[in-house]
Amino acid sequence: MKNNCVFCAIAANEIPSFKVYEDDLVLAYLDINPFSKGHTLVIPKEHSSGLLDTPDETLAALVARVKKVASHLKAALPCDGFNILQNNGEAAGQTVMHIHFHIVPRYGKEDISFISQKGDMDELKALADRIRMEG
Ligand code: AMP
Ligand code: ZN
Repeated sequence: MKNNCVFCAIAANEIPSFKVYEDDLVLAYLDINPFSKGHTLVIPKEHSSGLLDTPDETLAALVARVKKVASHLKAALPCDGFNILQNNGEAAGQTVMHIHFHIVPRYGKEDISFISQKGDMDELKALADRIRMEG
């Protein structure tokens, strides 16, 4: 696995993901331990560890894709709102050191403690199949 980085391995198709969106620069897929139904991660295919070492042009593209995917999820799930999270460093709760934005769909009723549940792989696959976008 390149860099020993699980998200680089996902970007290289070396390990599977529940893909929601892909283009030349960016990949979006379901988080396997979701905070809520449709919890999606958006990553650049090029590795950087966090906000501070990511080139501005990459960040600009990434945020634009976060907007595009969030807009799609709001309609396709559908959800009522969403949180965007982006953790930097272990102290901030970052566990995968490849920059990523979380899109956490909200439905108005859930607890906001952000405690994730173990995902059901069959449900995740079906959901990704249902809401996947064209590149
Ligand atoms: P963070 O705490 O911001 O670093 O978030 C990392 C997220 O990546 C967690 O919510 C994990 O559930 C998620 N995650 C880890 N491995 C995978 C994977 N192979 N596919 C999808 N999501 C993953
Ligand atoms: Zn990486």
